[in-house]
Order: sequence, then structure tokens, then C-alpha cells
Amino acid sequence: MAKIRDDGQCAVCGISGKVTLEHVPPRSCFPKPRPKPLPIYTCQTCNGDSSTEDEHLKTFLGATATNYSPKGKALKEGFIKTIIHNKKLLRKILSGKLTDQVYDEHGRLKPDVVNLTWDMRSMIPLWNKMARCLYFHVYQEVLPQDVVMDPPILQKVATLDQRMVHLMQKDSVGNDSEFTFGLMRAVEGQRIRFHCQMLFWDRIRVDASGETKTGEQAAPEQPLPAAQFR
Ligand SMILES: [Zn+2]
Repeated sequence: MAKIRDDGQCAVCGISGKVTLEHVPPRSCFPKPRPKPLPIYTCQTCNGDSSTEDEHLKTFLGATATNYSPKGKALKEGFIKTIIHNKKLLRKILSGKLTDQVYDEHGRLKPDVVNLTWDMRSMIPLWNKMARCLYFHVYQEVLPQDVVMDPPILQKVATLDQRMVHLMQKDSVGNDSEFTFGLMRAVEGQRIRFHCQMLFWDRIRVDASGETKTGEQAAPEQPLPAAQFR
């Protein structure tokens, strides 16, 4: 698969021209060997540098991974190695910046229990980009720019919504279904509502959804307006 194409279309903003292979699914979700990325391309602006978001995601997945699967185990071991070497991150965790305090039923602090929490807001741009990329991959249309995305929901569940199964089968990456996704699109009048679910290896599912604000760009059963050619 070519890494760069000179005559492509960006899956996120729709601009045509030079595009680069996007990492869908995100690299950080998988220990090596990683599944091959889907053939989805984005422009230089949209491809951007998401290494911080990626690192954040990797840490989160490593901390919450279980030994349930060899991949989960590998991510967890990677996380432990990271916090041993990354003193800044370790200090952050120990200082409570990433933690919640746990109280008992009488409101007393339980000093021996630490509940790790992550600031998910920093990962929202990454999930939203993934959802847009998958939308383009399935419908060969750019999701209108005025689609307002709901904050992605991260859940520990092992399945996709039943209504999405057909896409899961069609678009599984790799043989062992480490990454599967489903998409639903409803066109009501001039509004588009869509729902994207991404399921990662070890019982983590991210739901991203959104809808057009005005619906003016969307006409049912018609190709969406050509992307913004500049
Ligand atoms: Zn773009």
C-alpha cells in the first residue's frame, strides 16, 4: 500500500491532492505486530502530529488492559515499562493528577485504594478523526464539516451493536479481529445522524456519534456535496 498519493482525497476534510496513509486503527492500540492500516488517506493538515494523543491513548489502554489476551498482556507490560522509565508520568500518577480518591460508604477516604482516572478530553480529536475516516471508508463521502460530534464514549464491552455487525464482518482488519468497527447512518430529511463504534482487541469499545447541525449540506440518497476543493 502506497504511503503517499499525489492524487488522493483527504478522508477528513475532503481536500484533493497529496495525501498520506492514515493510521486507522491508531498504532498505539496494538503491540507489535500491528494489524495493517485500512487504506484511508488524509492531507498533511489533517494527518497532523497526533503523537501526544497517541501516547496518551497507549498509556490509558496499557493501564486498563487485562491479561485476558496476549495482546492485553503485552500492552500492560508496555505500560509498566513506560511508567518505570517515564518519571514524569509516574509522578503525575502518584501525585494524584490522574487519580481519583476513593471514599467508603461513610465518606471516609480509603487511603489504600487508588482509582486511576484519565482525562479523556485529550483523546477526543483522535476518536473524532477515526470516526470521520471510517465514515469516508464506508460511504466514500466526506462526513459534512458541520457535523457536530458528541463526546466519544469509552466502554468495556466485547461486542458491537447488533445493527452494525455486517460492517464488522466486512471490514475486520487482520484475521483475529483485533480491530472491528461498525457504522450506522440515518438520513432524515436533510439531516444526517451517524454512529460509529470501534472495538479494540481487549474489550474496549469507543462510540463516536454526531449529526449535522443544519442539514443543509445533506440531501438524502444523493452524493454529498463534493468536498471543498481549494
Ligand atoms: Zn484534510
